[in-house]
Amino acid sequence: MSTIDSLPHVRWSGVEGRPLVIAGPCSAESEEQMMESARRLHGVRIDYLRAGIWKARTRPVSFEGIGDTALPWLVRAGREFGMKTATEVATASHVEAALHHGVDLLWIGARTTVNPFSVQEIAEALRGATVPVLVKNPTSPDLGLWTGALERINRAGIRALGVIHRGFGVASSRRFRNPPMWELAIEFRRLHPGIPIITDPSHISGTRELIQDIAQQALDLGVDGLMVEAHPNPDQAWSDAAQQVTPERLGEILHHLKVRRETSADAGFLASLEALRERIDRIDHDLLDVLAMRMRVVEEIADCKRENNVSTLQVSRWTALLEDRVSRAESIGLTPDYARALYEIIHRESVRRQSEIMAQEPSTQGRPGKD
Ligand code: PEP
Ligand code: MN
Repeated sequence: MSTIDSLPHVRWSGVEGRPLVIAGPCSAESEEQMMESARRLHGVRIDYLRAGIWKARTRPVSFEGIGDTALPWLVRAGREFGMKTATEVATASHVEAALHHGVDLLWIGARTTVNPFSVQEIAEALRGATVPVLVKNPTSPDLGLWTGALERINRAGIRALGVIHRGFGVASSRRFRNPPMWELAIEFRRLHPGIPIITDPSHISGTRELIQDIAQQALDLGVDGLMVEAHPNPDQAWSDAAQQVTPERLGEILHHLKVRRETSADAGFLASLEALRERIDRIDHDLLDVLAMRMRVVEEIADCKRENNVSTLQVSRWTALLEDRVSRAESIGLTPDYARALYEIIHRESVRRQSEIMAQEPSTQGRPGKD
């Protein structure tokens, strides 16, 4: 168990029956733009107005945010329209400035979460603060780094914690700017069930067309909220133009989202679910028995190879096997990616087990003796 689960934290995000929504422009550009954003987002029922004040950009020639001057714009725009405010902090001086101006929620960006020195510096600056602090997942798919950053913030006395799932900057993906790798968000939830997860479909997508689908997928997995970039004139935005939506479009996206309940008390539903889950349990037990049976055969193959001094891996056999299993899987309604991933794991373990057996001293038991 990590220490965030043993230290007290509060559930700060509770809105009954709907996701918490943080929305606003990628960057604050002018006081007018912030006022216009707030005025138009006000009609859309969001919980926090966001805006980037200091922008960590990949290249120095990009717009790096207005800086401290823009903080009062964000706070004034929020107050004017009765919304709480949120911004990203990357250094101790950002934290001091944001708290000084009365920003209601702070988050740590993906590029900062990767650096424990920066996170520690932010944590020290947060000591004594009561604002919720959200930690975006690190750009690399590393759960330990994500959890470690939360621990640092929690140890500095911050009790209102949460995370933002914004996808991972892994090997090039044609579909996403930052592939969501849902399995990591699910694993995070399994490890830390008490920490709210907010999904950021804007930074996952990189393009506004995908936001609705990603947001729905996130809700289907039971996340607690969404962070969406919304700008009064998205195409003219100074940063992340392609992924921003107008406040009105955000309204439509939110309106079309189906919010699922975690469970239902309906007796019919509970009985069917129970019966289906029993079937799944039985199938999984059979699956494990079959895998164990397969492994016994792998062991016999290893014995056979060792006795004949043949190497563990025959690449042509592996290529043919994979091809056969993937096409068979496809013919019975499973996706090729699924079959491939499954067989890569099965094969890796089979090679590992064979190497283990090959490394053993030849046993004389059951085999003709020399004398
Ligand atoms: C942002 O939210 O504007 C941002 C920079 O996001 P990330 O840290 O996820 O890249
Ligand atoms: Mn952005």
